[in-house]
Amino acid sequence: MDLTISKTNDCWFDNAIENFYSLLLTFDYNQKLNICLNEFDLKISGNENDFIEILDNLFEHHKNYVCIKKEENGEIKEFLKDFILIQKRRKGLFINLNPILFKNSKEEVPKIVHLLNEKGSKHCVICDNSFKKKYDKLTQAVYPFTTKIKSLNGVRSYKNGMYYSFKDYENNICPLCFLIGILGWVTEKLIYWTDLNRKKGYLFLPKSRNLLELYEFKEDCFNVSLLNNQRLSNINIYLNGENKFTEGKFSTLLCFYSRFILECDYVPNIDWDILEIPLGSIKNIRVFNFDVNYLILNIIKDFIDKDEDVYILFKSILFFNNDCVDWGLTKQIVENLAESFLNNDFRSFSRNFLPKNGSKILFSSKNINFLEYFDLLIYLWRLRPMSIKKEDLKTIKSVANIVAKISVHNSNLFYKLDKIKTIDGFWSCLREISKKLLNPDLDKSKIKESSLCDLIILLKTNEGNWKEIRDLLIIYSAVYFSINSRRELNGD
Ligand SMILES: [Zn+2]
Repeated sequence: MDLTISKTNDCWFDNAIENFYSLLLTFDYNQKLNICLNEFDLKISGNENDFIEILDNLFEHHKNYVCIKKEENGEIKEFLKDFILIQKRRKGLFINLNPILFKNSKEEVPKIVHLLNEKGSKHCVICDNSFKKKYDKLTQAVYPFTTKIKSLNGVRSYKNGMYYSFKDYENNICPLCFLIGILGWVTEKLIYWTDLNRKKGYLFLPKSRNLLELYEFKEDCFNVSLLNNQRLSNINIYLNGENKFTEGKFSTLLCFYSRFILECDYVPNIDWDILEIPLGSIKNIRVFNFDVNYLILNIIKDFIDKDEDVYILFKSILFFNNDCVDWGLTKQIVENLAESFLNNDFRSFSRNFLPKNGSKILFSSKNINFLEYFDLLIYLWRLRPMSIKKEDLKTIKSVANIVAKISVHNSNLFYKLDKIKTIDGFWSCLREISKKLLNPDLDKSKIKESSLCDLIILLKTNEGNWKEIRDLLIIYSAVYFSINSRRELNGD
């Protein structure tokens, strides 16, 4: 028996090939097969009966593996991992792995293995290799993008200038791709997160130029000890004395990076395809590409090197409405911050700090060093790449304090700042701030009026960076506005 499986540039199948390699290595206890992963293919050779025995063990072992076992009312009950498309709830307490290969591996594994080496006139829609007879039809259990809806179809491709029809590709999956695809769900090395409110699961598929790199990265992921015995998410972090799970897809990714860099001490060169899998009966799967930004990953690492964590910094932000924490909004803001940070989108990041309908952002009193590390984030993310000096940040913060004090009487100022679209608009906004400083009712304690002139000089010498300076002013004004109102709240 001699098999070669080439890299496909399809995120599901590349991960499935890497996964097949890992599974075979684990289950070939006596090293009977030659299994070799190269940059662009996986080669397997050996005795067919040995291969059958190893595969049979593998399927048998994973029969009750992908679901969660929990005790409820004194009985052990199994729960679905909602995003896994080979599970079905059985009547009663147990989950069923639906495909017949899992149900009846003793009989089915020899059938599929015998088909692997038969060449024929058919061509596989996934790997393009020729084969004689399919093992079974292409379904979402094998390739999650499979669907009858044309516009959503991930498999559909050209053949002599014509699209394949659904029937064409449904019947043209070679037995090897079938086998590898279906086992793609059986893995302990992929991150997942589930949003029960919106009824969507997310599976994070790493992308790499070569299979060896993919394998090494996923081995390191495994060593970050993903909590695969949990139903909704396998990424958690120790926070305020307890282990907490993430609450959004970008928060999950940010939390993952913090943990990964902490454990593995390097910044991985990996992009992502994030699958969004509806939990209902119709599974039109969407995919989001996410390419990482090295400036951002290096900031996460700089924080880890200082024994701090960007994710935890964001988690100490709270959103207050009428002096109560609005947990729904807080969750949403943390997710927005994670998303804009990972996308290196400072503009969106800054807008989250604006007070909304009388509610405002505060930070948890459990994180007394919040401002220090927030300044560090701003320094690493904006000031250092823009070559703005730390002293200039003092000027921006000082004007931000003025804006915060004026906003006690006139919170429209925030929105005017946010709406500035040209540098001329910025000048006129600064003139307005200058006029408002003359208001005799204004609390002028801790205000340095001359900082307004310093900001004008800073803007004139950094005209190209005026947008960044505007966003920094928005962020710090909002933060000081919150600090001031909390002082009032505490009677301080
Ligand atoms: Zn194939």
